[in-house]
Amino acid sequence: MTQVSALINATHKDPSVVYRVGPETRVSEAVALMEEKNIGALLVMEGKVLLGIITERDITRKVAKYPSVNSGVIKVSAVMTANPETITPSTQLIDCMELMKEKGFRHVPVIDKGEVVGIVSMRDVLIALVRYQELVAQNLQDYITGSVYRG
Ligand code: AMP
Repeated sequence: MTQVSALINATHKDPSVVYRVGPETRVSEAVALMEEKNIGALLVMEGKVLLGIITERDITRKVAKYPSVNSGVIKVSAVMTANPETITPSTQLIDCMELMKEKGFRHVPVIDKGEVVGIVSMRDVLIALVRYQELVAQNLQDYITGSVYRG
């Protein structure tokens, strides 16, 4: 199939933008950013260093453990997953899917030569799979109707 790099370029409006927060950011601000950008995860970074990942699941599950505390004062570092698993642009899409399935997460940061270059979500994977299926169907149709030269 295809590599993760093609997927990032094809599905993201601006592949160079990876939404991030710092560990001291309040969870309420992280939620506001997720809502504004319509995304389900943010990378937690200090400069260029990837410290963790915070997703909607962390917020719904872990913040619920602090019922008496306003989520406005909880910091991202308290609910993020530290040292997330990562992939590279040359990771095969099938391996990325396998990782997501095995580990049960829907987001994976993409690292190239030690630097964060993107994040792949389950939504990106679904879009890529649908496009792939459409391409296969089109090729089959072209083959059956003879609209491509078959030598
Ligand atoms: P998700 O399904 O992506 O919302 O994530 C489910 C849980 O796995 C949350 O606790 C996330 O912080 C964590 N998680 C998400 N992505 C990763 C990753 N790439 N590596 C490690 N943990 C992750």
